[in-house]
Amino acid sequence: MEHILVTGGAGFIGSHFVKRILEHADDVARVTVLDALTYAGHIENLGTAFLSPKLTFVHGNILDAPLVNDLVAQHDTVVHFAAESHVDRSFFAGGVFLSTNVHGTQTLLDAAMRHGIQRFVHVSTDEVYGPLLDGSATEDDPLRPTVPYAASKAAADLVALSYFHTYGVPVCVTRSSNNYGPYQHPEKIIPLFITQLLKGEPVTLHGRGQHVRNWLHVEDNCSAIELVLRRGMPGEVYNIGGGTDMTNQELTAALLHVCGADWDSVTYVPDRRANDIRYSMDWTKIADSLGYRLARNLEDGLAETAEWYRRNPDRWAPLMRNPHTPIAKANFDTQAGEVPHGR
Ligand code: NAD
Repeated sequence: MEHILVTGGAGFIGSHFVKRILEHADDVARVTVLDALTYAGHIENLGTAFLSPKLTFVHGNILDAPLVNDLVAQHDTVVHFAAESHVDRSFFAGGVFLSTNVHGTQTLLDAAMRHGIQRFVHVSTDEVYGPLLDGSATEDDPLRPTVPYAASKAAADLVALSYFHTYGVPVCVTRSSNNYGPYQHPEKIIPLFITQLLKGEPVTLHGRGQHVRNWLHVEDNCSAIELVLRRGMPGEVYNIGGGTDMTNQELTAALLHVCGADWDSVTYVPDRRANDIRYSMDWTKIADSLGYRLARNLEDGLAETAEWYRRNPDRWAPLMRNPHTPIAKANFDTQAGEVPHGR
């Protein structure tokens, strides 16, 4: 019976993953969440998972080497979500991104090497490939990150793969496109637009909304990560995409539709710094080799997500209201004319 250590399990994707595993994986004996509960981590995200006797929550930092060493020693596998994840914050807090995303990952890998961990899934992003004017990045393409967040994730990916090549740590790397779904922090574009529209406030599009992104329902990402955990090949990278690429203008149209609003709610602002024009990934490899299939379409997924935010204002309103939260700091630290929202 497997013992899984999940870092960042109180965050958006990590909490979905933990609930998924506890709900259906009978071969899992214990899931331990290690989370520092930064502004992005909320123990409430785990909700019903606490009803399971298999769940243990440890409030701690992945940079705490003795703690990490003790925890890794008690587990068979590690699924590593913990990170600073918001691009806009990385413009003014690059040091935290490097220490958490790179040194934190290395701290975990050192422990994984020491204790002969059976599988280490490092959760990463399509943003490491950088912007592409055309075509789609495969796993073998070069990494050309343009923003500090993506650079820190690219560095962590390379460190993780180096532990496979150098020490034989059975690392797999997943690179997914932008996730959306319930429980996402309202600093990210989909929950930000939904919550603003629900409040009757305008939303702001950068440039002409021409930036192209790919949207992946968080549950589809978690199913892919579970496939990689169970059947991925050590030393391999797996891209995880979700349906069609779309411009932010097209995304906004879909969000206006599910929120019952119109284009009068949209204002345009000058483009922000380093706003990569287009990301695109080829995810044939995980489909062909591990049988990954999408279970959600964007239309249903956005409607369900909007409904969750409509029903749960207590989960997001406090995060937007308190001027002393780091979100407000992000606003103050951003150049005039730019409105921070993530991708
Ligand atoms: P999130 O910001 O919602 O959650 C991050 C979690 O990590 C939080 O619970 C936070 O408390 C925890 N954490 C941060 N620093 C920590 C530290 N030093 N020690 C322990 N815990 C710490 O992020 P998310 O959106 O759930 O993303 C999870 C992972 O997936 C990240 O590695 C991110 O880079 C990657 N990813 C995210 C997306 C996306 O669209 N959200 C897309 C691709 C990849």
